[in-house]
Amino acid sequence: MAGREVRTRFAPSPTGYMHIGNLRTALYTYLIAKHEGGKFILRIEDTDQQRYVEGAVDVIYKTLEMTGLKHDEGPDIGGPVGPYIQSERKGFYLDYAKQLVEKGEAYYVFSDKQDVVAEICEKEQKPYKYNAEYHTITKEEIEEKLAAGVSYVIRQKNPTEGETIFEDEIYGAIKVENSELEDMILIKSDGLPTYNFANVVDDHLMGITHVVRGNEYLSSAPKYNRLYDAFGWPVPTYVHCPPIMKDAHQKLSKRNGDASFEDLLAKGYLKEAVVNFIALLGWSPGTDQEIFSLEELVEKFDYRHINKSPAIFDDVKLKWMNGEYIKKLPLEDFHNKALPYYEEVFSRENMGKLDLMKISELLQTRVELLNEIPEKIDFFDALPEYDSALYIHKRMKTNPENSLPTLEKVLPTLENLEDWSLDSIHDTIFNLISEMEVKNGVVLWPIRTALSGKKSTPGGAFELAEILGKEESLRRIKAGIEKLKNEQN
Ligand code: GLU
Repeated sequence: MAGREVRTRFAPSPTGYMHIGNLRTALYTYLIAKHEGGKFILRIEDTDQQRYVEGAVDVIYKTLEMTGLKHDEGPDIGGPVGPYIQSERKGFYLDYAKQLVEKGEAYYVFSDKQDVVAEICEKEQKPYKYNAEYHTITKEEIEEKLAAGVSYVIRQKNPTEGETIFEDEIYGAIKVENSELEDMILIKSDGLPTYNFANVVDDHLMGITHVVRGNEYLSSAPKYNRLYDAFGWPVPTYVHCPPIMKDAHQKLSKRNGDASFEDLLAKGYLKEAVVNFIALLGWSPGTDQEIFSLEELVEKFDYRHINKSPAIFDDVKLKWMNGEYIKKLPLEDFHNKALPYYEEVFSRENMGKLDLMKISELLQTRVELLNEIPEKIDFFDALPEYDSALYIHKRMKTNPENSLPTLEKVLPTLENLEDWSLDSIHDTIFNLISEMEVKNGVVLWPIRTALSGKKSTPGGAFELAEILGKEESLRRIKAGIEKLKNEQN
């Protein structure tokens, strides 16, 4: 197919949500097209009405839009080979199936006669195959039955001997014995195509050059190939992607309730990080680079480097990557993403009082996931109950006993401080540290503990004091002193 414009399609069945495996298929499909300057097409495969879920098509549009996988043709924007929704193409398929009957590559099975072939095949657990004795029928007989309205299915007619070989770009040449190929149904008794038949006809009519899909479709590919051959159509390049595993044994799957794109966003992952992460689920650029923008992926993506071994969905790596994306955001953007979490944790009064932008500045380099924010900032809202053991820090040699006199010195020093800015708090406390002739931590640790009641905080004593403000900081230091006194009596 050299010289043809590359045309790829993402062909989701609207099942309700965007599973990570589907999104990866969409991404690879998009990247193959865009890498070659070709077209990325969206086709909705909704022939299986039983699986149809209300609103599911919107999930598809929304996800593609959010992730920047912009399609060039599709149900919403049209294009030269529409309609792009399979249920609107219903009328197309029967004629194609009839063409195959004409060519002797498919045959009718009418329902007015008991299908003994089906019974035998089922009993012997053999694939359904054309049986001359049972299936032979003249053209006239066919016309008569059709005219009489006898229902029927049309089946593909596969050879019984020899083998079919097809080439997959990732899995290589795959050989199947023709005797194992079932004569699959092309047109069902309701006149509608089966999923597999519609898929082949549509890919051809839409000029698809590269078919990208999960490797669960690998076993259907020989039957698809036979259809292309039967029609005399060029076979597209097949790119079957490796499975995505939860761990060494289990596949990531909808049924196991594993991650969908929506779930990941709800957990606080950034869409750019998710896209970057899934690009690497089975593909590698051949270098150490791990962070890629979508543009860089378009430039670097070469589907020949997709791996056939299963890809492991590594949460730890995804989290790390998300942290990297969070760090790269402009502060304003991070702040806007953090705001809903502040609203969740802070009282109205504190929302007005606290310098939220300063909190964002502290947090941005310290969270990997947006929904880690609440537990990192809750102490700004109210000092939690805490154990005085928190004053113990081995390396800094602090404990509840020596923290008490320290805080008693800190309190008046800060009370006298008028300029409550970060620098001025810093300088004042450092003066105190040199007066006391102790190590920094001896003073800083108790202050931070008294201000936060937490073992770890985004930012140290000075930053926390600045954000909490003078009144609240002094109140918390006093509370710390009281606590230590009470416990030491
Ligand atoms: N409609 C199929 C699915 O959602 C895609 C099959 C294909 O891409 O060929 O899994």
